[in-house]
Amino acid sequence: MSAPILESATHDDAIMALRRERILTATGLAAEQFLSESNHRTAFQAALRLLGEATAVSRVYVFQSVPSDGGESLWSQRHEWCAEGIAPQIDNPDLQNLSMVDAGFSRWVKELSAGRAIFGPVREFPEAERPILFAQQIRSLVVMPVQVHGRLWGMIGFDDCLSEQGWNEAIVSCLRVAARVLGAAYERMDYKTHRDHLLDDYQLLLNSVREVIFRVGDEGRWSFLSPAWAELTGWSIAESLGRPCTDFIDPEFLGTARTTMVGLFSGQVETSRWEGRVRLADGGSRWFVVNARRLPTAPGRGAEIVGTLIDVDDTKRAELALIEAKRAAEAANRAKSEFLSTMSHELRTPLNAVIGLTESLIEDGATLEPVRTQRYLEIIHRSGKQLLAQINDVLDLARIEAGQIRLVPARVDLSSVCSSAVEGSRRSAEAKRLVLTFTRPPAPLCVMADEKLLRQVLNNLVSNAIKFTPEGGQITLGASLSEAGLATITVRDTGIGIPPEKLALLFKPFSQVDSSLARKYGGTGLGLTLVDRLVRLHGGTVDVASETNRGSVFTLSLPLAGSPSVSSP
Ligand code: ADP
Repeated sequence: MSAPILESATHDDAIMALRRERILTATGLAAEQFLSESNHRTAFQAALRLLGEATAVSRVYVFQSVPSDGGESLWSQRHEWCAEGIAPQIDNPDLQNLSMVDAGFSRWVKELSAGRAIFGPVREFPEAERPILFAQQIRSLVVMPVQVHGRLWGMIGFDDCLSEQGWNEAIVSCLRVAARVLGAAYERMDYKTHRDHLLDDYQLLLNSVREVIFRVGDEGRWSFLSPAWAELTGWSIAESLGRPCTDFIDPEFLGTARTTMVGLFSGQVETSRWEGRVRLADGGSRWFVVNARRLPTAPGRGAEIVGTLIDVDDTKRAELALIEAKRAAEAANRAKSEFLSTMSHELRTPLNAVIGLTESLIEDGATLEPVRTQRYLEIIHRSGKQLLAQINDVLDLARIEAGQIRLVPARVDLSSVCSSAVEGSRRSAEAKRLVLTFTRPPAPLCVMADEKLLRQVLNNLVSNAIKFTPEGGQITLGASLSEAGLATITVRDTGIGIPPEKLALLFKPFSQVDSSLARKYGGTGLGLTLVDRLVRLHGGTVDVASETNRGSVFTLSLPLAGSPSVSSP
């Protein structure tokens, strides 16, 4: 008689083993769903279906318990799978924000909180629990606690509406594994949401900081650049990443950039800070303070540098402008001091001659030979004229600077003004055996100018040419119409020329190419400044081209008569 019992026991065991195996297989597949499916709702649906089919139940569902303001937790159904023909409960309003205690399920809360499952036929459940369960046609069920981060998060339930399925500890322990998988899936989701929030936060931070945050890899190439890079330099991040960072450094600062990178990569220094210009996409450049630090080498990664680029362009340019202004003020001050010393030297020389020679005439005049007296008088006369010319220069410039020169414009023929300049200087040119000529233009050229002032300009240029051209040289004046439609006068000499670095100083007041007192040529350094100011008053410009020891060409460009040009001071 015992054999059939044994046989049936073996048969039941086999069925049980099969049920358990099906549940565990489904649990494994459900876990895979959670890992592979990025949409968590889809993953839950698939997992519940797998578990429902494996357990052959009518419904599988998940409830979440959320603490309410009142302190009690409210339970809501979140996911559900139903077998065919079974009424879903996911939209049942009674199963949302449900107070388990009020609904008569305090036993469930207690059991689930203690980590225990509730299972069995509903008819054997306490009376208070039955109505709500029968209302859902449930005949037997299993509910398992779902724990997330070690706390009761909710429950997973399996309803049987068609029969009273026999649940036992062996099956329930398999379902416990499924509940754990579910809990782990929620933990992972939580972690992912947390991570996404963190990433969003970092992105927000990166987007809002004005500083560029960068990372440079072992080969000195950008491996990360924050959005401020594109904003401040105009280079897109995509085109910059992977390129050597030195490609973006202004050539003037390449040396510094390379030295600091070598120092950081080799570990000689841990941090560095330097100031330099970065090349911009539009061809310009911008000042940045570069702060860089060597990252501790991570396994599998080469050495890396991280840091920030802080935009200091406005302050740096303002600082440089201040330095330049200070330098210019100092240079002007120096030029003024030099002027004072050369000026007094220039004035003293003819004055000393006047005083010395007049003293001789007073003391020995009666006995001096007439020829000698005549020579003394000539020197005194020349010195007086020289003094007057110098004082006139100073006064003229002062009047121009004070806006007190009044032009008397009239139609002036360039040929006539140039010819008279040549004639006026012929004697001093001949005294140095210089050939002084004027090449007439093919057709008459007229400008509206103050003739007296224009003569003064030409006389200045011609007397400079004579002064700075050694004996035997040539000085040529020319007048022509430029391509731009301007009347031009050129004064060309074959003299000592002007070194290129001094050209910029020429038209600045009190500037002389050689400002030492021991210089070879006299002068106050005001002549060309006067020329420049006077020509500008006429709406024109002066240019100079020169080559040391070959000669110089000064070119005046003036608007032709009829053009609206001559400005009032
Ligand atoms: P200065 O009274 O000293 O001649 P200018 O303003 O006329 O003052 O000239 C300034 C300086 O420019 C001169 O000292 C000289 O060094 C240089 N310079 C002017 N003209 C010539 C020229 N034709 N050739 C060479 N140097 C010149």
